[in-house]
Amino acid sequence: MASTLPRRTSAWARLSRNGLAVVGLAIVVAILAIAILAPLLPLADPNVTAPANRLLPPFSEGAWLGTDQLGRDMLSRLVWGARVSIAVGVAATLVAAIVGSTIGLVAAYFGKLADNVLMRGVDMLMAFPYLLLALAIVAALGPGLLNALLAIAVVNIPFFARSVRGATLGLVQREFIEAARLSGYSNARIILSELFPSVLPVIVITMSTTVGWMILETAGLSFLGLGAQPPQADLGSMLGDGRNLVITAPHVSIVPGVLILVLVIGINLLGDGLRDVLDPRLKSGALSRPVARTAVAEGRTSGTGDRGALLEVRNLRTEFHIGQRVLKAVGGVDFVLQPGESLGIVGESGSGKSVTALSILGLVPTPPGIVAGGEIRFAGRDLLRLPMHDLQDIRGNRIAYIFQDPLTTLNPLMRVGHQVTETLVRHQGLGGSAARRQAEELLDAVGIPQPRTKFDAFPHELSGGQRQRVVIAMSLANRPDLIIADEPTTALDVTTQARVLALLNDLRRQSGAALVFITHDLGVVSELCERVLVMYAGKVVESGPVGEVFAAPRHPYTRALLACVPVLGEPERALDAIPGLPPPVDDLPEGCAFAPRCPLAMAECRRGEILLARTGEGRRSRCIRWMELGDA
Ligand code: ADP
Ligand code: MG
Repeated sequence: MASTLPRRTSAWARLSRNGLAVVGLAIVVAILAIAILAPLLPLADPNVTAPANRLLPPFSEGAWLGTDQLGRDMLSRLVWGARVSIAVGVAATLVAAIVGSTIGLVAAYFGKLADNVLMRGVDMLMAFPYLLLALAIVAALGPGLLNALLAIAVVNIPFFARSVRGATLGLVQREFIEAARLSGYSNARIILSELFPSVLPVIVITMSTTVGWMILETAGLSFLGLGAQPPQADLGSMLGDGRNLVITAPHVSIVPGVLILVLVIGINLLGDGLRDVLDPRLKSGALSRPVARTAVAEGRTSGTGDRGALLEVRNLRTEFHIGQRVLKAVGGVDFVLQPGESLGIVGESGSGKSVTALSILGLVPTPPGIVAGGEIRFAGRDLLRLPMHDLQDIRGNRIAYIFQDPLTTLNPLMRVGHQVTETLVRHQGLGGSAARRQAEELLDAVGIPQPRTKFDAFPHELSGGQRQRVVIAMSLANRPDLIIADEPTTALDVTTQARVLALLNDLRRQSGAALVFITHDLGVVSELCERVLVMYAGKVVESGPVGEVFAAPRHPYTRALLACVPVLGEPERALDAIPGLPPPVDDLPEGCAFAPRCPLAMAECRRGEILLARTGEGRRSRCIRWMELGDA
C-alpha cells in the first residue's frame, strides 16, 4: 500500500483487537491443523480392535486417552473422528450456502413469480421442526454420513436464502444495478459481478455463525446412529458409543464430548468476531450505536464570553477518532453571532462546515466524533456542558436545523402535517386541534398550495421544493432565535432554489431570527448573509462583511474560490479551478494548510502555526501575505 494513502485499519487488525475472537481463532486453527495432518501423525489405526486392552483408562501405557470398549485407541479415534465431523459440517455449510444464496439472489433479483415460487418453497422447509425434518430426510434416504450431510444442508438452506434475499432486495433498486442494466449486462452477469460481491459479507457472516451449529447437528445424527456407520467414527458416534458406559468408563463419552464443546465454542467465538469485522456498520471501529449527544473531552477552560451575543463559538475543535487515526475535522473555529445577524459559511467539500454546525447542537455522531476542545455559548449558556434535558429543549425550539436533503429529513411514514404539529406539541405543549390550525397556517406561510389537503400528504407525494418548504415550516414553527441551514437547497433545481431561499430569507427577517447559512455557492451568500466565514481544512481562513470580503479578499483561498464562480453574461471569462486537493485532515501539513496550493506560498508559510489576524474593521485573515493581495 502506498504510504500516502490514509491508513485504514485492516480487517485483520480489527479482528486481532477482539480478544475472544483471537482465542476462537487459535482453537479452530489448532484443531484444524491436527485434523488435517492426521494421516501424518504417529497415531495407532483408529479401527483396529484389541479385546485384551478394552476400556483402559486415560494416561495408560501406549494409550494417552485410554481405549474404548473394543480396545481401540481413543486418541487416534478422536483425531480421525474430528476430521470426519469437521469435514461433514463444513461441506454441509458450503452446500447450504451455495444453494441458499442462489435461491436468495435469484428470488430477489427477478422478484414476482420467481420470488413467490422460491420463497414459498423455502417457507415449506421452515414449516417443519428443524431436527425432525433432518431425521425424516435421513430416514427416507437411509442412514450414512453422506445422507446426514445432505439432510443437514437442506434444513439450513432457508437461513441462507432468507438473509441473502433480504440483503439483495435492498440492492436491486439501487442506481448501480440500474446502471449495469443500462450498459447491457446480462442478468447472470449482474447477479454474479454486481450483486454477489455486495452480499458476500452477508453470506460469510451466515456461514461463520452456522458452521458450528451444523457440526453439532452432524454429531446429533451420528449419536442417534443415523450418521457415521461403524467402524468409521465421528465425534457424534463416539459419544453414542460411550453412552452405555457413562458410569463404568466415563472417559469414552467425556473425551469426544469435551472436544465437541471446545470446537463449537472456538468456531462461534471466531464467527462472532468475523461478523463484527465484516459488518460495514461496525467498520469504523464503532461497536456501539451513536449516542444522543456528541462526546465532549474533559478539561476545557471556561471564559466569561461576549455578553449580548446570541451564539459564540470559541476555538472549537471537533475530531473523529477512528482506530489509530485522528481526523481533525474542525481545528479551532471562532465566531460570534449577534441576534438577528446572518452568517454564511463557505468552503470546499470536506472543509468542516457541516461538522462545525452539527457540533453546536451536539449532533456529531459519537463514536467516532468528539468535541476535543473549545466553547459554544448560546444566549450565555454553555451548550457543551448543558444537561441533556436542557439541550433537548433548545434543539428544534430555540435553534432550528435545516439539513441538505429534505427527503431524508422527513419521516417517510408520517403525514407532513403531523411532522409539523409534532414539534409544536413537543415544545409548545399545544393540543391537537390548535396544533393543526397552526401547522396549516405555517404550511400556508411557506407557500404550500392548499395547505388543508397537503397536511395529510406523505413526503413522497410532494415535490422536492415543497418538501424543503415543509422542513422550513417545521424549523420556523417554534419561532427560533437561530436557524442553521446546511446547504438547504443543494438538492433542488435552480429556480426552486431561488424561490425557497427568498422565502427562507423573508420569514427569517420577519421573525428576527439569526441565520447560519452553509453553502458552497458564493452568490447565495452575498444575497443572504451579512458576514461570511471562509473555511479550509477545518479552520477559518478569512472572515468579514460579505461585500468587503468578496470585493477585496484577504486570503489567497478566498480569492481562488471567487475565481471559480461563473458570471452570467461573461462567457469568455476563464474559470480557474483551484489546482490540487485539500490536505487530508488526519495529516495536516505544518504551517498554512493551503500553502501547497497557494501561488503566494513561501518558506515562512510552511513553518509554525499561522494565526487568524485582524486585517481591518471586522475583518480577519489567516495569511501572512494578505497585504500583497491588493484590491481585486
Ligand atoms: P463539509 O465542509 O463538506 O460540510 P464536513 O464538515 O462534512 O465537510 O466534513 C469535514 C471532515 O470531517 C471531512 O474530512 C470528513 O471526512 C470528516 N467527517 C465528517 N463526518 C464524519 C464521520 N461521521 N466520521 C468520520 N469522519 C467524518
Ligand atoms: Mg457538508
